[in-house]
Amino acid sequence: MGASGGEGRAEKMLESQEYDCPYCGEPGEVVLDLSGGDQDYFEDCAVCCRPIRFGLHTDGEAWNLEVRREDD
Ligand SMILES: [Zn+2]
Repeated sequence: MGASGGEGRAEKMLESQEYDCPYCGEPGEVVLDLSGGDQDYFEDCAVCCRPIRFGLHTDGEAWNLEVRREDD
């Protein structure tokens, strides 16, 4: 019983992670590809359009996501 749909996902290890925007505080959700290893990237907030910096640390199973402001 999960909230996620039952689509067949073969190789990619995709997980969705909820976060709060560090600028406006609105909740959002990102999809993480755990098969890609550690990643550091920006994605604009869907509400305030400011660049959120995501730092993903993963060993392919467990993960930790840092959500920061651009200038933090
Ligand atoms: Zn925002």
